[in-house]
Amino acid sequence: MPIDATQPYDPDNIFAKILRGEIPAKPIYEDAHAFAFPDINPQAPQHILVIPKGAYVSWDDFSTKASDAEIAGFIRAVGLVAREAGMVEDGYRLLANVGQHGGQEVPHLHVHIFAGRPLGPMLARQG
Ligand code: 5GP
Repeated sequence: MPIDATQPYDPDNIFAKILRGEIPAKPIYEDAHAFAFPDINPQAPQHILVIPKGAYVSWDDFSTKASDAEIAGFIRAVGLVAREAGMVEDGYRLLANVGQHGGQEVPHLHVHIFAGRPLGPMLARQG
């Protein structure tokens, strides 16, 4: 079920548990502001999730409340993860789902990085 992007932060969401080490995730990258790990259900040959370490529900929450240092650190981390995964030459796609219409399932901001094949149209075509 997609989440309501205006809901308060739930400290028991699955990515908060990953950040606390309560649920395992293979670390791909970590610094003061960001953590990257493989998606458990990959939708492309390479599918990485990058999350901020701070408690932010969504892109909306993060872009409203995070400090400039958190925002700069997170955005740079997303680029670094893709670069270090060798995705730049052939290209990649970033996706951040927000709320109901975005189809966001986990209420902790995450950016998906997809790569490894031509990724097709930006959105699934309707009927
Ligand atoms: P959303 O739909 O919220 O943008 O994407 C949530 C993503 O989190 C999905 O692609 C899903 O496969 C991934 N995911 C959900 N639970 C876990 C988990 O416990 N570990 C990992 N690595 N990924 C998860």
